[in-house]
Amino acid sequence: MEKLQIFDKNSNSKNTNYINQPDTPLAELDKVIPKSCLRENLPLPNLGELEVIRHYTSLSSSNFSVDSNFYPLGSCTMKYNPKLNEYLASLAGFTDIHPYQNADCIQGALELIYNLSQALSVITGMKRFTFQPSSGAQGELAGLLMIRKFHRINNNQKTKVIIPDSAHGTNPATASMCGYQVLTVESTKDGLVNINRLKEIVDDKVAAIMLTNPNTLGLFEENILEIRDIVHKKGGLLYYDGANFNPLLGVTNPSLMGFDVIHLNLHKTFSTPHGCGGPGAGAVGAGDTLEDFLPFPLIDKRGDKFYLNYQVKNSIGRLKGFYGNFLVLVRAYAYILRLGEQGLLRVAQVSTLNANYIKEKLKNQYEVAYPKRCLHEVVFSCQKQKERGASSLDIAKRLIDFGIHPPTMYFPLIVAEALMIEPTETESKQALDYFIKAMRDIDKEIDQDLAKVKTAPHSVSVKRIDEVKAARFPNLKWEKSGD
Ligand SMILES: *Cc1c(COP(=O)(O)O)cnc(C)c1O
Repeated sequence: MEKLQIFDKNSNSKNTNYINQPDTPLAELDKVIPKSCLRENLPLPNLGELEVIRHYTSLSSSNFSVDSNFYPLGSCTMKYNPKLNEYLASLAGFTDIHPYQNADCIQGALELIYNLSQALSVITGMKRFTFQPSSGAQGELAGLLMIRKFHRINNNQKTKVIIPDSAHGTNPATASMCGYQVLTVESTKDGLVNINRLKEIVDDKVAAIMLTNPNTLGLFEENILEIRDIVHKKGGLLYYDGANFNPLLGVTNPSLMGFDVIHLNLHKTFSTPHGCGGPGAGAVGAGDTLEDFLPFPLIDKRGDKFYLNYQVKNSIGRLKGFYGNFLVLVRAYAYILRLGEQGLLRVAQVSTLNANYIKEKLKNQYEVAYPKRCLHEVVFSCQKQKERGASSLDIAKRLIDFGIHPPTMYFPLIVAEALMIEPTETESKQALDYFIKAMRDIDKEIDQDLAKVKTAPHSVSVKRIDEVKAARFPNLKWEKSGD
């Protein structure tokens, strides 16, 4: 093979470093990369280190982040992500192990997973957990596959899954993926499951109901025990979407409510920061009925040794390589240990208090979609504002000028012009008051200077983008903003 000399042959250097010529044929660039994407010239800026650092530091702060701004994004809120947990998850003992290592030399990691499962069992009343699913949606998939296998083994002819119209979109998507027909049950004007309607549609063909409690309107399903009886009597099971579990920590649990299988988003409620799709952990917990259906392996203990238990009688099998996103589990475990029983209860109380504080302070300006006392989040309808010319999108965009991340908009789908606010348990009264004032100011501004609201945001370089187009045809080139 011909050697490529990387030093000038004519130089006096005695260095004899060689690298091999590649032995695969070289492709012509424009046959591999579309012509439209090839640059004709590459004007590299001639900059010093400080200029480069300042450029990127300034770019890094032109985005919103939970470290710099209030982030009241209902349901998917950045809940509390203590820096201590980031530190713990970065310790070499956790980051430098490999899942192919022999169980004997990763006893500490297995113990952590085992203990986390036990802690979540105390918190939720479920018997045991798997941490394989990497998201809430994958947790739902695990849960419904378990339900499907349960019915198959028991020769139950089941074809349908019931889901309330306020549910997160992943619920019906999961049920369809498992081959079930989705039946929607409407909400009452109080925002709860319509029990009469439920009774009408439940029959022997119903495999399960998927419920979120508190539901995505921030309301507690008061009739949950009646719902349990209606569904269980027909041989259906209860699936619990516990993505946002903070308002119930230490107050009540899905086992007491009669659920057979649940998922928790450790990346929402239990301290891992999330956003941009990763990494997460959709911990799935099962009660008596479905415990034997969990994905294997489960972490078990024999004497004082932890081991991977593949003997899970009716297991749906593996859902993912290895054991899930381990460092997310480290953060969740640290969070639970640090808060303890009293701390977790306080999370529930303060998240509920904060949402109700905002609800009461804004109810004269913004219509509260459901007047009942809410739990961790409150949904407003900006219908009145819309009639005066500003939609909930306009209001959300104007909030950016106040340094506030836009709340969740147009969800749940059953509320017209919805703005869904979740302040979380960790914001100060000062931060909440600042948000309340901003919302009131914007409401006044709609009458005084509508154009300013309609053309917001004014303070950031990226204004209003076509969100659909931006997702389908991303423009990844950095361009200085127009002015
Ligand atoms: C976020 C969320 C989910 C989905 O969780 P992912 O981790 O994003 O897949 C499901 N249900 C509810 C209520 C949620 O808020």
